[in-house]
Amino acid sequence: MKLTILGATGSMSGPSSPTSSSLVQADGVDSETGETRTFSIVLDLGPGSFGQLWNHVDPQEVDGLFISHGHADHLADVISYYVFLKWHPEGSRPALLTAGPADIFDRIMQIDGYATTEEMEGCFAFEPLSSGRVIQVGPMTITAFPGYHSVESYGFRIEGPSSDGDGEVVTIAYTGDTDSCEQMVEMARGVDILLAECGFTEELQTRGIHLTGVRAGELATEADVRHLVLTHIQPWTEPEVALAEASSSYSGTIDVARTGDTWVI
Ligand SMILES: [Zn+2]
Ligand SMILES: [Zn+2]
Repeated sequence: MKLTILGATGSMSGPSSPTSSSLVQADGVDSETGETRTFSIVLDLGPGSFGQLWNHVDPQEVDGLFISHGHADHLADVISYYVFLKWHPEGSRPALLTAGPADIFDRIMQIDGYATTEEMEGCFAFEPLSSGRVIQVGPMTITAFPGYHSVESYGFRIEGPSSDGDGEVVTIAYTGDTDSCEQMVEMARGVDILLAECGFTEELQTRGIHLTGVRAGELATEADVRHLVLTHIQPWTEPEVALAEASSSYSGTIDVARTGDTWVI
C-alpha cells in the first residue's frame, strides 16, 4: 500500500499545507473487469486538500471517500469534489462511495447550501459508519473504530497487500480526531504505519478532543506500532514541538506529515 499526505495541518489550513486529508492506494484485481489496477481511497478532505488530490490521482478514479467526522477541517472540500463530479466535461461517473458518521450527509448539504438531495446523492453514495463497520474497496479492508472527540468521530484501520507483491498483508491506521481511548489502541494494534493526529500540545491539558504529541506516542507504544506519523498539527504549533513530545513516549521511527509526503509499504 502507499500512503500520501494531501493535507497535514489540523483545525484550519495553514501557510504551508491544506487541512486533514490523505490518500491510500493499493493494487488489486478489479472484480468487474478481471484486470489488475490501482485502487484509491481518500481519508478526510479538509479545506484545500482536493486540489492536492489531483497531483496524485485523477479524482474521477477514486474508489472511496472515508470521512472521520463532521468538523469542517475534515470534510469541507467535499464541496469542491461535488462540483467536480457534477460538472465534469467528460460526464458523470457512478456515485462515489462516501462513508462517514450518520450526520455527514446533512453536514455536507449545510456547507453547500444550494444542492438538492437528488443532486448530492447523484454524486455521492453515502454509507453511515458505526463501530466495527467493515467496508471493502478492491484489495483494501477498511474498519471503523470510534474515537473520543467532541462529536461522533471514527478512526480507520486499513489492511491491504504489500507493495512488493509478496502476498503479505500490511496495515495503516488513521486516528481521525480523538483523545486517548481503548478503541484507538485496538485500531492501531501492530500496524505498519499509524497516522496520528496531535492537535494539542502538552501546554493544553483539555481532555476529550485531541491527542498531544505525548499521547500520540503513548498510543503508538501501547499498540506496538512500527512507524508513527504525526499529523493535524495546528499551524501555530512548531512541528518540532509535536515531534519532541512524541519522542518522549515512543522510541520507534517518527515522522511529521507534510503535504506530498509518501510512504510505500
Ligand atoms: Zn480536526
Ligand atoms: Zn474534529
